[in-house]
Amino acid sequence: MTWSSPPTHGPLGDALAQLAATIEHLGYDDGMHQMLATARREMQVSVPLRRDDGSVFVYSGYRVQHNFSRGPAKGGLRFAANVDLDEVRALAMWMTWKCALVDVPYGGAKGGIAIEPRDHSERELERVTRRYTSEIAPIIGPEVDIPAPDIGTNEQTMAWMMDTYSALLGHTVQGVVTGKPVSLGGSRGRTTATSRGVAHIALMAMAAHGMRRDGTSAAVQGFGKVGRDAARFLADAGVTVRAVSDVDGAVYAHDGLDIARLGAHAERTGSVVGFPGAEAMDTTGLLTLEVDVLVPAAVEGVLTADNASHVQARMVIEGANGPTTQEADAILMERDVVVVPDILANAGGVIVSYFEWVQAHQAYQWSEREVNDRLEERLTTAWNDVVEYAGTHTLTYRQAATALAVRRVTQAHRQRGLYP
Ligand code: GLU
Repeated sequence: MTWSSPPTHGPLGDALAQLAATIEHLGYDDGMHQMLATARREMQVSVPLRRDDGSVFVYSGYRVQHNFSRGPAKGGLRFAANVDLDEVRALAMWMTWKCALVDVPYGGAKGGIAIEPRDHSERELERVTRRYTSEIAPIIGPEVDIPAPDIGTNEQTMAWMMDTYSALLGHTVQGVVTGKPVSLGGSRGRTTATSRGVAHIALMAMAAHGMRRDGTSAAVQGFGKVGRDAARFLADAGVTVRAVSDVDGAVYAHDGLDIARLGAHAERTGSVVGFPGAEAMDTTGLLTLEVDVLVPAAVEGVLTADNASHVQARMVIEGANGPTTQEADAILMERDVVVVPDILANAGGVIVSYFEWVQAHQAYQWSEREVNDRLEERLTTAWNDVVEYAGTHTLTYRQAATALAVRRVTQAHRQRGLYP
């Protein structure tokens, strides 16, 4: 990306448009705008994989470190066929805002490999992960940039990354990644942290907008690391979860899906499709279903100019990063649909990643209760900050959250000064 011709569409176009509006609201100058629009460091690597059959294929990998003003860069690693540099740049920028908004001492980063993990054996994924880690090793580390899971990666991926990085350095470095298995220094509560946060924020937002838990219905797009447990926590709280979808299809039950049983079904069969007692439905229809709360918890760019005017939900809780395009955002605002932005709604994951990193530094493990209590406390503080700022300045929650975050990053940047 060059400053003179930035993309206007796709995730990076959306992220840059949000930033531009925030800069205007805050009245910052063009120099600061450029600083915040561009990544401090980007690395593109080739990741050659020797497949199980002996053949070789070379994948493209990326690590983008958007900002370091408030501390080491932080953000997930994504394995998905359509990953490209601009997407990773957008995701890295959103990590900077997310970390600042929930006040964890990090900048933002993101990594990705353009690989479809479902097409590979476990051994192939291990080799890809280890090779990628060794390629980006010079620019990661507990005080530099700390990867974590994202779409297509999990705690096993993080264990391989930690092992590879540790092997290169000659000693175990637990703090280089978060989202590790608990047995290797992972934090209790990390695997469900994003979902717990989504549900916690959703329930606070519902209460603030006069929606009772037991009278509220929801639809959740995505039944992976975020959507699955978010649906479960919402159902446990009394919300009627009418529909969920995954990449293979969607299921619907007017009186509410039994999420625990659906989870077991998905575990057994690999998909929510075919869940007994539920109706099959079209995945695209889920977004415009007649429910009170919509939780897009899959990928970016799903709410668009085409479908945003058909959304029937009163509230959108962004479990995914960047699910709402700038055009859709404007339409939803116009229609008074409350949108709780990704950098707040899905921040539970990075908050507990921070706790994991702290625990690695302390060499001391907290109880799950301690983790969950501190998680909810931080999210509640961030939610209150956003509500107050939005009220004072007459902004949407996204505008308020982004402004608060950008202001914090800018303050750190100004206090440090520009070198040389
Ligand atoms: N991938 C997650 C996110 O988008 C978590 C990042 C992290 O824990 O560093 O927020």
